Amino acid sequence: MTDVPPTDSPWTPDRVAYRQLLAGQPAYRLDQLWQGLYSHDKPPEDQTNLPKALKASLAERLAPALELAAEQLSDDGQTIKWLWNLPDQARIETVLMHYPDRSTVCVSSQAGCAMGCGFCATGQAGYDRNLTVGEILEQVVAARRATGERRLANVVFMGMGEPLANYDRLIESLHRIVADFGIGARHVAVSTVGLVPQMLRFAEEGLQVGLALSLHAANDDLRTELVPINRHHPIDELVAACQLFRERTGRRVSLEWAMIDGVNDRPSDAAELAAVARAAAAHVNLIPLNPTPGWPTVGSPPDRIESFVVELRRRGVNVTVRANRGTDIDAACGQLAAARSPGGPTSVTISTGAGAPDVTDQPRPDRPGENRAD
Ligand code: SF4
Repeated sequence: MTDVPPTDSPWTPDRVAYRQLLAGQPAYRLDQLWQGLYSHDKPPEDQTNLPKALKASLAERLAPALELAAEQLSDDGQTIKWLWNLPDQARIETVLMHYPDRSTVCVSSQAGCAMGCGFCATGQAGYDRNLTVGEILEQVVAARRATGERRLANVVFMGMGEPLANYDRLIESLHRIVADFGIGARHVAVSTVGLVPQMLRFAEEGLQVGLALSLHAANDDLRTELVPINRHHPIDELVAACQLFRERTGRRVSLEWAMIDGVNDRPSDAAELAAVARAAAAHVNLIPLNPTPGWPTVGSPPDRIESFVVELRRRGVNVTVRANRGTDIDAACGQLAAARSPGGPTSVTISTGAGAPDVTDQPRPDRPGENRAD
């Protein structure tokens, strides 16, 4: 073996690193190995066309990072939540949602989250660590294996963690998802709570990946209460970042709005949101707040959501109400929770800001009336 840093997962090294690991092997071996990883979803140890000695040598450095700790199926059988143990005892969750002809996976980018949004189970539990590229991609691999006849058509980074806080690994993962797993960039979406410097960088990456901003309040006082990072990146900065993203990518940002009973679902909230959405040239996704143990309020009732939608539309805003998936197994927005496995260095409860939306459930300006985003 050559001087390549130890890695956690066979999906972590890039082609350059693998070229070093394969020193002395025939040139075709890299493509063979890469195809095994990204076309057949197999780690080197399961790739039958690799020589035994090479598999043994790779296995010393690389081993699949995700170990299944639990699997839950929603009542209708269409949503699956996986709880994974990571090699250092950290835990994460992944949600797979089936639709008639395709599937969407909602992946985690961090174990826990440092952003501290009060209504989110992940935020209530605190931060553990960033995931590696391999830990992120293995969630996609698991989803591809589980989709069977269906196609894994969409990947959304709306699971545990703030994806833009794990920036470099997120970008590397996105490139591999698009180039190597062959999932179109427009079928991939990343959510952020509003890390403005990273949003500005993201706009310049040349990716056609969607960006969803978890807004939840359109005035700084309320937003800072709900989403503490707003203290550092207030709404006018977010609007400017959304505008830049639109300018550089041609894609609209989606503003995510968890409907919280009596908190952000009044006509005055709709008026403020409409002003921000118009300034940001953004689409709005409304999500009824999901119950979490550590937040005393509940989601808005259906009639309030309906009035909110009417008010937004009256003000010229393009808005979608998302159907929640997997609430019965705590797999919906903000509900994911994964404690460190026993014996780990700390005992933490983790959950996610995921809502596991489908990126194709949003409107597209190029297809008026169609319920897609970008
Ligand atoms: S909503 Fe997102 S950013 Fe906020 S605490 Fe939850 S996972 Fe983190």
